[in-house]
Amino acid sequence: MTDAPARIIDGKVHAERLRAEVAAEVATLRSEHGLQPGLAVVLVGDDPASQAYVKSKGEHSLAIGMHSVTHRLPADTRQEELIRLVADLNADPLIHGILVQLPLPKHLDEAAVIGTINPDKDVDGLHVVNAGRLVAGLPSLVACTPMGCMILLRETLGDMSGKHAVVVGRSLLVGKPIAQLLLAANCTVTMAHSRTVDLPSICRQADILVAAVGQPRMIRGDWIKPGATVIDVGINRVPFDNPVQAAAGKTKLVGDVNYKEAAQVAGWITPVPGGVGLMTVAALLRNTLAAAKRQAGLDA
Ligand code: NDP
Repeated sequence: MTDAPARIIDGKVHAERLRAEVAAEVATLRSEHGLQPGLAVVLVGDDPASQAYVKSKGEHSLAIGMHSVTHRLPADTRQEELIRLVADLNADPLIHGILVQLPLPKHLDEAAVIGTINPDKDVDGLHVVNAGRLVAGLPSLVACTPMGCMILLRETLGDMSGKHAVVVGRSLLVGKPIAQLLLAANCTVTMAHSRTVDLPSICRQADILVAAVGQPRMIRGDWIKPGATVIDVGINRVPFDNPVQAAAGKTKLVGDVNYKEAAQVAGWITPVPGGVGLMTVAALLRNTLAAAKRQAGLDA
């Protein structure tokens, strides 16, 4: 254990700074080029968490001076209807970024829908063209949560060359792009997943530990190397610890890391809530700005 508890990487502070930077650039773009970046968010169905994320994305994009449109479609929307909407947004000159909120209802083919988005407007960075460009080290629109994590890491640690980064989770949305970004930052990267043997000892080797698992508080304090930087991507809703509140059906958000234990060992740690989640929307705004600039032939 370290002598002092970990320092907190405050997502609120970093996200506010990023949003302010993007807002300043949006203002310049509007005044000097008459260009207002436009974001379209598409929500299918009525999942409460997705509704909250979509609302937040719309509000934040408007607040920094972007053009913002939200399309809310019923849960029984047919694949062809959704694809037609995406095609219309691809052709809309006022829209520079398109985000289809995931997960989609089960009857819809997510890969086919994402594949319909013009890669230049794919501000969620999920189109195979953008995923491939990231692997190839070419300029791309990078998935928002991984980009948010990297901004937190860069602003906290500076140069990461030679550090051993362990990423737990290998999803297309989070684990894989984060691993690519860490590799591009000259880290030595280990990717772990549900079939990894002896996960605790792999995690204990990490100078930078990224948890993107979706298992509440799975990463324990004694899995963490003293002084390591811990980025907790997980967002899990669990009952309150207090049995009275739990019995009343009250829930709260926790990460994939056991925060109380980890904070006694790590050097730096992101809280949940208040860490990575706040960066995701800020990174989306940055991607929309970059997409608008590229589409206008300006240096992004
Ligand atoms: P997925 O379910 O797509 O992927 C989870 C990954 O974790 C898989 O690669 C899986 O391995 C691995 N995994 C699952 N269980 C274990 C285990 N017991 N030991 C080791 N690895 C395991 O989730 P996402 O990547 O989409 O999301 C991960 C977490 O991040 C979730 O809590 C999600 O809510 C959160 N999230 C947060 C965001 C934010 O803005 N902060 C944005 C997006 C996600 P395998 O591949 O072998 O199955």
